[in-house]
This record gives sequence, structure tokens and C-alpha cells, in this order.
Amino acid sequence: MQTRRNFLQQLMGAAAVMAMPPCALSANTQPLPWRNWSGSQVCYPNTRSAPADLAQLQSLLKQANGVIRPVGSGHSFMPLVPTDDTIVSLSRLAGLISVDQTRQQARVWAGTRLGDIGEPLANQGQALVNMPDIDEQSLAGAIATATHGTGAQLTCMSDHVVGLQLVLANGDLLECNAKQNTDVFKAAQVNLGALGIVSQVTLQNQASYKLKRETTWLPIEEILDNAETLADNNRNFEFYFIPFTGMGFIDIQNITDDEITVIDKLDQNDGAEDLKTARDILSWSPKLRELVLGTYMKTLPKEVNVANSWQNYASERNVRFNEMEYHLPRENMIPAFKEIRQVVETQFPEVFFPFEVRYIKSDDIWLSPFYKRETCSIAVHRYYKESHQAMFAAIEPIMQKYQGRPHWGKLNTMKAEQFSQHYEHWQRFNEIRRELDPKGKFLNTYLSSVFNT
Ligand SMILES: Cc1cc2nc3c(=O)[nH]c(=O)nc-3n(C[C@H](O)[C@H](O)[C@H](O)COP(=O)(O)OP(=O)(O)OC[C@H]3O[C@@H](n4cnc5c(N)ncnc54)[C@H](O)[C@@H]3O)c2cc1C
Repeated sequence: MQTRRNFLQQLMGAAAVMAMPPCALSANTQPLPWRNWSGSQVCYPNTRSAPADLAQLQSLLKQANGVIRPVGSGHSFMPLVPTDDTIVSLSRLAGLISVDQTRQQARVWAGTRLGDIGEPLANQGQALVNMPDIDEQSLAGAIATATHGTGAQLTCMSDHVVGLQLVLANGDLLECNAKQNTDVFKAAQVNLGALGIVSQVTLQNQASYKLKRETTWLPIEEILDNAETLADNNRNFEFYFIPFTGMGFIDIQNITDDEITVIDKLDQNDGAEDLKTARDILSWSPKLRELVLGTYMKTLPKEVNVANSWQNYASERNVRFNEMEYHLPRENMIPAFKEIRQVVETQFPEVFFPFEVRYIKSDDIWLSPFYKRETCSIAVHRYYKESHQAMFAAIEPIMQKYQGRPHWGKLNTMKAEQFSQHYEHWQRFNEIRRELDPKGKFLNTYLSSVFNT
């Protein structure tokens, strides 16, 4: 509780500074720490800015010295944002700008939180095609790292972007889409915040819809046996595995006309706390842990919720963790999953967070981890107060052996040379980055190591 209160106090301090226009920041202000959601990344930026309009953002970019990093909601685990120079948030450039009813498209300010897009879109009869498992991210932040939900026939969020506006390092505006500045567009759809600041985004949506969400607990072997069929036969399918229990649950969503049953987000925090308690009490005996938890999980009833789409994708994740997620060719999921399970259950008895397995359709975006391949992603987690390094180091070679590409926002140790092997347009992306930002204003230490080699 104390930690949460400290965290809240730090957050309030940071938010107060973040909300100030640039001119309100005094030169004597002591840098406050900036932290990402899990606390794995920290920096002490000299300047934090939250421009109130496009003109302020353009003049900030024209005038700023040193590195400038755009920040969304700080939900990436990788060091994409940290700089001790300038951090710029688009939290004040948020909301719906316009809609095109014929094409079912909407122009949205890039600083809009995903959770704030659903209702205004619904008022216009539109909805996002798919969403991730939380909705705290900013739209620009989600696109930058190819954020995805689940669904074997559904692509990642960047693929639903049909146009965007970039504010370049020199403050100029650049509009790009499939017909205008097309190469920049293909690069900017997954951009890591390395090309410029995305200020507006045009999204391809669909008519608003309701989803029926069905959650069922099952033995993991049964889930694995049926996973491929479930992925093919349902709009959204994913599964979770709880290590040391032999059990997991499947989450299925399909479009429905049924009456709405629930509008609250599912709260998975109590579950995570319970698993931690069981780990603390029973980790001395893996067999007893499996017996107690496995038996309990077999008694859990199926849950069914019907809600508007934008209210049924996301859960609350208040028990913090660090995460590694790799995107594998779909056919490699089951062998990779079994090896990862073996490593965790023989070497890391402290683990209590679930594995999460999702399906994503291929696309043709240059730096998309789903580029030209049907994908299954496996994510592993460690409680944020416990060291994740040894476990992730043991699992990462398995992910890579099965041709995994890491989620750009989640922990991995891949280097530029390895990325270049996975992405056929790697060189062209790098050329465009250099053309748009010749002085490397947007490169912090990590991005320099990835792109400036
Ligand atoms: C609890 C939790 C659950 C998650 N669930 C999922 C999930 O279901 N699916 C999934 O794919 N990922 C998931 N993620 C990862 C998350 O979606 C990505 O890391 C995402 O990039 C975070 O968005 P953000 O707004 O917090 O951006 P940040 O983490 O703040 O920034 C991410 C990147 O976006 C860039 N950026 C931000 N704003 C702009 C801008 N205006 N212009 C240009 N670049 C910009 C930043 O510079 C950085 O490179 C989850 C993360 C957490 C912590």
C-alpha cells in the first residue's frame, strides 16, 4: 500500500509538471524522475512539454536542443522514451477530429488514450476493429510499437492506420498515406517514435458492434489440442496458462446481438494477487501447489459477458509486472510453448504470472513483427518487484530459435544486426529515418544503438 501511495505521489508530481506549457517551466526546476509503468525505465528529463496545439508542438521542435522523445502513456517496457533532455507528451492533443461515414474512417489526435476513443466513435456509429488487452495506451504510442489484440483474421493496430500527420524534426508537417509520401507512410505505420512526432491519425474502423466474451478454465493439454481450431473458428481467441497448475483459460469473443450483460472492465488483479499468495505459501512443494490450485481452477465456472466492443477488450492490470513477448510463425507456437513451460516449471518456481498466447494476422508494414507471416505470440511476465533477468534470459533463446520477432515495446535483447535479418525493408527504413531527422534529434541511447549503426 505504501509503495502504491509513493508511486501515486510521484505520478501526481510528474503529471503536474507534464501539464505545464513549455513557457511555464523554470530553468531552475530540478528534474523529476520519469518512470515507465513497470518502473523498469527511469530518466531525469530537463524539459517536459505538453503542447496545447499543433503550433506549439511545431515551435518546440524548431527550438529544442538535444534529444527529444515523444511519450505516450509510458506502457512500454523497453527504453524507447528515456532521455535526460526533452520529453514531449501529446496528452493535450487528444480527441476525435472528424469522421468519414462513407469510408467508416475517423481522424483522431494522436495523444488520445485508446480507452477514450470508443465512446466518441460509437456516437458516430463506428468502432475500432480490434483492441489490446488494456486501453491505457495513447494512440500514437500503440501504433509506434505495433500494438495488437488477438484474432487470427485481425491485424495489429498499425494496419488500421490509413493516414497520419508527422511533425518533423525541423517543425514541418508531413501528411502521409497510401497515395501521398507512400514510403514514409509504410515506415511510419510502426515507427518507434524515431521518424517524428505523430500528431494526427486516420483510422479505418468498422460499424459499431457488441462482443460476447466467454472465459472457460481447462487443462492446458486440452487447450493446446484445440487451440488451432478455436483460433480459426472465433473472431478473437487467446489463452492463458498458469504455470505450476496444469490449468489455463481460454478467452473467446464473437460479435453478437445479445443484450448487454456487463459494462465494467474485468478486474484480473485479484487473480494475480491470489496466485502470488499461493506461490508464497506453496512454492516449497510444486506438487501440492499444482494439486491445490489445479483442483480449485477446475471448479471455476464459465463466465459470459456481453458488452459494446470497446468495453469488452480491455482488463485492468494494476498488479505491475515486466514482460517479454515474441511473435512467432503460427506453426511454431506449440513446440515453443512446451519448451518455455519446461524451462519455467523446472528452473523458476517463483513464477506465478500466466503466459499469454495470442493470434495475429499478417500485414505488409515494414517494421511490423507480423510482416508477411501469420503469427502466434507468446508473452511471459515477472512480478515487477522480482528480478526478471534470469528467467527472460533462459526463455529468449527459445523464442529466437523458433524465429520469433520481439514486440518492439517489450523486453528483449535483440541488436540492430538481428533486426535487419528479420525485416526486409530495414535499410530503407533507416534511410528514411536519416532523411527525416538528419541530426538524430529523436534518437536516445537505445534508438541510436538500433538505427544509428
Ligand atoms: C499492462 C500492459 C498491457 C499491455 N498490453 C498489450 C497488448 O495487449 N498488446 C500489445 O501489443 N501491447 C501491449 N502492451 C504494450 C503497449 O501497448 C506498448 O508498449 C505501447 O507502445 C505503449 O503505448 P504508450 O502510449 O504507453 O506509449 P509509450 O510506451 O509511452 O511509448 C511507446 C513508443 O511510442 C512513441 N510515441 C509515443 N507518442 C508518440 C507520438 N505522438 N509520435 C511518435 N511516437 C510516439 C514513443 O516514443 C515510444 O517509442 C501492454 C503494456 C502494458 C504495460
